[in-house]
Amino acid sequence: MMRRRIALVAALVAVLVASLAPECAAASAIAPSAIHLSESDFDDRIAMTRADEHCLLEFFAPWCPHCQNFGPTYERIAAFYNKGENWANPTEGHERPQPHVTAMSVDCVANGHLCEHFDVRGYPTVLFGRCGQFAREHKSRHSEKIEKIAANRDAEEMVKRVNDALNAEHELLPQADDQKPPIEDNEGEKKDVKVEDEAPHADLEDIEHATVLAYEQMTSAALLRPTNRDPFVSFVRLMADAHPVAVCKDGAKALMDKIDKTWPERSKPDKDAFDKIRTRLSVHKVCGDGHVGPLVWRQCEGSVEGKRGYTCGLWLLFHSLAARSVVPSSQKNDYAGATWLATVSRWVEHFFPCEDCRVHFITMVNAKDGVGTVATKTDGVLWSWRAHNEVNKRLAEQERRGEAVGSGDPKFPKTQWPTPALCPGCRKEDGEWDEDATAKFLVTYFHGLGAPRPRRGSDGRKGGKGYGTPRVGAGKRGDEASGQPGSAVETVVAFALFGGVGLFGYRATAVPGSAGFRLRRQLARHLRVI
Ligand SMILES: Cc1cc2nc3c(=O)[nH]c(=O)nc-3n(C[C@H](O)[C@H](O)[C@H](O)COP(=O)(O)OP(=O)(O)OC[C@H]3O[C@@H](n4cnc5c(N)ncnc54)[C@H](O)[C@@H]3O)c2cc1C
Repeated sequence: MMRRRIALVAALVAVLVASLAPECAAASAIAPSAIHLSESDFDDRIAMTRADEHCLLEFFAPWCPHCQNFGPTYERIAAFYNKGENWANPTEGHERPQPHVTAMSVDCVANGHLCEHFDVRGYPTVLFGRCGQFAREHKSRHSEKIEKIAANRDAEEMVKRVNDALNAEHELLPQADDQKPPIEDNEGEKKDVKVEDEAPHADLEDIEHATVLAYEQMTSAALLRPTNRDPFVSFVRLMADAHPVAVCKDGAKALMDKIDKTWPERSKPDKDAFDKIRTRLSVHKVCGDGHVGPLVWRQCEGSVEGKRGYTCGLWLLFHSLAARSVVPSSQKNDYAGATWLATVSRWVEHFFPCEDCRVHFITMVNAKDGVGTVATKTDGVLWSWRAHNEVNKRLAEQERRGEAVGSGDPKFPKTQWPTPALCPGCRKEDGEWDEDATAKFLVTYFHGLGAPRPRRGSDGRKGGKGYGTPRVGAGKRGDEASGQPGSAVETVVAFALFGGVGLFGYRATAVPGSAGFRLRRQLARHLRVI
């Protein structure tokens, strides 16, 4: 028995080790030619640059759709500056444009402190300046010599900006037509489209997973600022009132009970004191100790690694908070929708740093048919549905023009939702929406009634049948079957193996939703069991 367990742990560790190489590659796949920096090597890499060298520094998050779409552009820029690829007017005797510009990248999920240090508030952010200016011990880190360059999709335009700053005339060869993403002329008709399993309710396990990741983001060094207390507390309060998963609702309530102690109102903490507040908040388990998370997304699983996932889960969370929002007993009238929209829009503003997504969302909130039209719970439910369909429409158009190559999942084209198959009564005979019927459908769909409960790790409860791709290892675990506690030797062996790869593996397994991330959780869960 003991041997079997050691073998099992060793096998898991071996799988984890084997997963590291591809994970490293995946983490840098957004722009493989850029030099990827982490908190541990940042200062050394900057110190190694030449005195006259300039740096382009991109800050991104792997889950951020705008970063995924900007990826191919930044890759062209990085290949141009770092390797001299597609250099239209090369200088004899030089392999890459002079003076040297080096394109680098920082993943803000894995390296939150770096992004906090450079005061990055939206992804992707591209900074440009003499490399030495980026050295963290440099006193003038907010010096004007570091310039923000708009991360648009026009690589030639970005090279022009750098040329202007350096008084240089380097030219990037325009992209050949056959390298550009194809434009569809069939108005979005796609072959081999995966038909979404039409479960009659949102997947609670995906909502729980999105909640855990959202909370990780909210308490990360990159995003939590002393000025963010109000949006932070409002969102936790909304979850405490309306979260569809009981453990997350309880976790949010528990945090609300101690919030004034944990993060006193009107406090003006210095950096050290605020770091302590952030640490206290980040160790709180918003969905309880038993959360093991899905090994794969279910409703939100993409057809390839890295697609869908977090942002899909976030939408489900927002819609379900709208559908379950409550009118406090102190309110005579129903302003639940207004409260929901104020809370969610402030959350997006402060904790959803995908720059494009945030700007578009806040524009919708401030539009004529935005915040001023939302009062009741039904208003909120319908507004969130309309806003999401507005995003779907815009992204469908981008997908058709070939502009969403990084973020779009070709097997899940954007549609106006719900489909007639999912809600036959939501459209009238003339094809227009029947908003009363749609509101009823949305409340039922996002309320969570009748949906299988998420699986719990520690108390042995199991969720029901999944509606997405079956989860890896969704069956009964051997450890639960035997119910025997593991020996100290097994635990020591397991920790020795885990520790051996831990340091090396942490960064590669820190990307939410990645295979490495899931393996880390799986291994951590197994170690807890034995
Ligand atoms: C607030 C916010 C703003 C965003 N803005 C952008 C942006 O500007 N640019 C960009 O590239 N990406 C943006 N995204 C990401 C994008 O909307 C998708 O989440 C991502 O492309 C993954 O799409 P998906 O196929 O998983 O489905 P999603 O659009 O994420 O939908 C998730 C699930 O919600 C349900 N659903 C779909 N439509 C509706 C609806 N109208 N009402 C209720 N439920 C619905 C479906 O079951 C679907 O599977 C944003 C995400 C969020 C949360």
